[in-house]
Amino acid sequence: MSEPPQRPPAFVYGSGRGQRSLCCEQVPLAKVAERFGTPLYVYSSHSIRERVRAFHQAFEKVEHTVCYSVKANSNLSILRLLSDLGCGFDVVSGGELLRVLRSKGAPPLSRSVRQGGIHRRAAGNIVFSGVGETVDEMEAALRAGILIFNLESASELEALAACSARLKRNALVAFRVNPDVPADTHPYISTGLHEHKFGVPLHQAIELYARAAKMKYLQVAGVSVHIGSQIMEFAPFSAAMERVADLVRQLRAAGHSIEYVDAGGGLGINYQDSSEDFPKRVSAYTQAVTKPLRGLGVKLLLEPGRCVVGPAGALITRVLYTKTNGATKFIIVDAAMNDLIRPSLYQAEHQIIPVQVGHSRRELVDVVGPVCESGDFFARGRDLPVTNEGELLAILDAGAYGMSLASNYNSRPRAAEVLVNGKSAKLIRKRETISDVIRAEVAALS
Ligand code: PLP
Repeated sequence: MSEPPQRPPAFVYGSGRGQRSLCCEQVPLAKVAERFGTPLYVYSSHSIRERVRAFHQAFEKVEHTVCYSVKANSNLSILRLLSDLGCGFDVVSGGELLRVLRSKGAPPLSRSVRQGGIHRRAAGNIVFSGVGETVDEMEAALRAGILIFNLESASELEALAACSARLKRNALVAFRVNPDVPADTHPYISTGLHEHKFGVPLHQAIELYARAAKMKYLQVAGVSVHIGSQIMEFAPFSAAMERVADLVRQLRAAGHSIEYVDAGGGLGINYQDSSEDFPKRVSAYTQAVTKPLRGLGVKLLLEPGRCVVGPAGALITRVLYTKTNGATKFIIVDAAMNDLIRPSLYQAEHQIIPVQVGHSRRELVDVVGPVCESGDFFARGRDLPVTNEGELLAILDAGAYGMSLASNYNSRPRAAEVLVNGKSAKLIRKRETISDVIRAEVAALS
C-alpha cells in the first residue's frame, strides 16, 4: 500500500497498534480530534520555527527584519511564537495591530497614552500597510509607535500628516509603489500591475515623496513593494526590486534619506509536493530580492506570510456521510468553505490524506462540506483511498489563509485551533458556540 503524501516536520505518519496514524510532531491527530473535536486547525510550532530560521539564515548577510504578515494567520499564540523568534510584523488594520500588541503582553491601546513606552517596545518592529488606513487606525499606530507606515495614496499621506500633527507624534513613512510587474498567480492575489488598486504608480512617486518631505511630523524613510501572493517564480521579485532600486537612487539624488526597502511577501509554497527543500527556495528568493539592491546599503524589511505558516497547519475534519449522486461519489465532511475558503475562492488544490491509513483500494470522489453552496468543496474528482463515515481526514497546507479567512456563513461556529510543540498540544482558540456567533445581534421589532 503506498503511503499518502506527508508534510515533514509538521505532519508525518507514525505507527501504533499496527496502524499508520498521522501525527502532528509527536501528537497523534486522532487523539487531538477526540479531545478537541472537529473541524480543527492544528499547527506545528517546530515547522514554523524551521521556516523562520531558514529566512533569517538566507538573509543573514544583509540587515533585515522579517515582518511576518499577520493576515496569513493571526492567532495570538502564533504571533507570540513568531515574536519570540525575532520577527516583526506587517499589519493591515487596527485589529491586526491590536493582536500583535496583545500577543506581546502590551496593555490595551486605551491605556497607551500614559504607558507609551510599553507599546513602543512592543511595536517598534511593526510596519502598517494597507490601501485604506482609517484615521482611527493611524492614530492607534502612531500612539503605539510603529516602525513605519507604507502609504498608498496622496490622500492617505494628507490624512497621516493631519493625524500626526494633531497628536504631535513623529512617523517614518514609505510609499508602496506599484512596479507594474506581472506575477503568475491567481488574479485575486496578483497586486503589482498598474490596473490594480494597490500602491502608487512609479511615475507619481517622486512627487509624492517631495510632498511627504514637507510634512512637519513625517519623515520619508523607505520604499515598499508587494507584487502578490503565492508566486512560484523568482524573476518577478527581481524585476520589482530592480525598479525599486532605481527609485531609491532617484529619491536619494533628490535629497531624501531612504533607509528602508520593504520587499513585501509573496513567496509561494508547493501545495502539491512537499519534497522541496525550503531553505534552498528561500535562498533563491534572497538572491532575487537582494541582488538588485546591492551597494545601496538599505535595511531590508520582508513580509512573508504563507510560506512561514502554510505547511505548518492542517485542517482536520471528520466524514459525516458518503453518498453517490449519478456518477459522483461524495464524501461529506464536517468542515466547510466557511472554515477553509481557498478551494472555492482561488480554485486552490489542497492535498487531503487520511488520518488513519487503512484502505488500499482507491476511488474518485468529491470531498464537500455541509454548506448550501455548490462551491462548498475541498476536492473534485480526487483519487483518494476509500474513506468511510466517521473517519478523519487531514487537509494539508492549511496554516495560511485558512482560519484567518474563516467566516460564520450558514451560522456555523468557527473551528478550534491547536498548537503542537513536541508532545504537547495546546488549545489556542476555543471552538465558537452559536451563542458567540449571535452575541452582537438583537431581534429588534421593526
Ligand atoms: N505584504 C502585503 C502588503 C500583502 O498584501 C501580503 C499578502 O497578500 C503579504 C505581505 C503576505 O503575502 P504572502 O502570504 O504571500 O507571503
